[in-house]
Amino acid sequence: GRCVVAVDGPSGSGKSTVSRRLAAGLGARYLDTGAMYRAITWAVLRSGVDLTDAAAVGKVAEEVELRIGTDPQGYAVTVDGVNVDREIRGPEVTGAVSAVAAVPAVRALLVARQRELINHAGRIVVEGRDIGAVVAPDADLKVYLTASEAARARRRSAEDAVDVAATAADLARRDRLDSTRTVDPLRQSADAVELDTTELGIDEVVDRLRGLLTE
Ligand code: C5P
Repeated sequence: GRCVVAVDGPSGSGKSTVSRRLAAGLGARYLDTGAMYRAITWAVLRSGVDLTDAAAVGKVAEEVELRIGTDPQGYAVTVDGVNVDREIRGPEVTGAVSAVAAVPAVRALLVARQRELINHAGRIVVEGRDIGAVVAPDADLKVYLTASEAARARRRSAEDAVDVAATAADLARRDRLDSTRTVDPLRQSADAVELDTTELGIDEVVDRLRGLLTE
């Protein structure tokens, strides 16, 4: 039957790896909503519009064709038919994504797309910042992953091969922007289970979430 798991938390909390593994183990789909914000950001940067012009940014978001797969073993992200899997992880997109994600028209559009993808999948693990609170408030399980700033910076810097100090500064900057924006800020919904992953391995986190699902 239908089963929706919402996984929220700040950058580097382990959301992506944990969500993909949980989905694969459950035989469910997986949706990386951060990749959708990143893909729209890539399109905005390509278009050359001013990042602070919310109307222009919203218009780019409405006009592009964004596609994203939901296979936890590997999913392509395309914008107007161009595969952007690699570019959306680069420093230009990472530097601009929080500004683009703060535009209300962008969020309205992507939240609607995310709900369609969730309804279509039926069984799915959805990862992001506002999934439990906004996108899927009726999720079967809501998890909020946290980790110490040091642990988050260490993990991200290992993934991206960027030095820890620069990564820590970037994470702090994005978290501040993501939690203080006026629409759908990063926040823990009241009914989410909080899990601090600082001292846990990925498999331990996945096991705990599986345990919560069968409770
Ligand atoms: O998870 P990831 O680091 O790929 O997300 C990139 C950015 O997209 C976040 O820093 C945030 O600004 C935005 N985002 C969001 N809402 C989501 C997922 C991501 O605002 N559900």
